[in-house]
Amino acid sequence: MLTDVQWLDASLVGVLGLLIGSFLNVVVHRLPKMMERQWAAECAGHSDKETAASEPFNLMVPRSRCPHCEHQIRWFENIPVVSYAVLGGKCAACKAPISVRYPLVELATGALFFWCAWQWGATATGLAWCAFSALLLGMALIDWDTTLLPDDMTLPLMWLGLVAAAMQWTPVTLSTAFWGTVAGYGSLWSIYWVFKLVTGKEGMGYGDFKLFAALGAWFGWPLLIPIILIASVIGAIVGIGMKFTSGLREGGYVPFGPFLAGAGFAALLLGPMTLRQLVGI
Ligand SMILES: [Zn+2]
Repeated sequence: MLTDVQWLDASLVGVLGLLIGSFLNVVVHRLPKMMERQWAAECAGHSDKETAASEPFNLMVPRSRCPHCEHQIRWFENIPVVSYAVLGGKCAACKAPISVRYPLVELATGALFFWCAWQWGATATGLAWCAFSALLLGMALIDWDTTLLPDDMTLPLMWLGLVAAAMQWTPVTLSTAFWGTVAGYGSLWSIYWVFKLVTGKEGMGYGDFKLFAALGAWFGWPLLIPIILIASVIGAIVGIGMKFTSGLREGGYVPFGPFLAGAGFAALLLGPMTLRQLVGI
């Protein structure tokens, strides 16, 4: 049973999660666009530096606008979940529908943060797992939308996992986490190259290797096989589901990152032991 103080802590961290979830919506929307702009600028050479500098576009600037009518979102229209409910899921100016995904991402992040603080309190361990949840959810959505897994998210997740192990915030030793990182990256990298040499096709991207390495850092090498098996099962179920609902995407390419992330959340919520029992190792 939780004491009143623990309930208060978990609730406050949960509210923090709602706010982080709101920021995640911005990251998921803008980070891929920022990457594309950077690539375009690099391809065009350095001559376009001035054009890129004249219109700043990052996670803070410009302010969020309605994509339909350019109405600038005011602060009271940007309160997680509440504003969506008050506005009835419509833009305050033009009444264009706002995707239900925004409040759902906020709610999911809030729930994950609450859960982490409920498990570990408002401690370094609890907050480390909050950071893990936010990064993992954000990159799953970006990969699903764009088939990109940004280095700006996979690499911090990996390093944070190693730091968390060194600080004993996670239940794995630094050695277990280190070899989890190496084996996570190395195993998918090897499969990628064998697959590419045999079939001439690319089945995964380097982002998948980095994400799997990061999960190895957080959970240690013994959990790599359960994680990859569960990710494959989730992927197969979603793939079959999409076929039946004829929701197959353009080009039929389904990214693997969201399923790896799903397995990561399973490991977080069910615990490493349950995950291993689930796949029988
Ligand atoms: Zn509008």
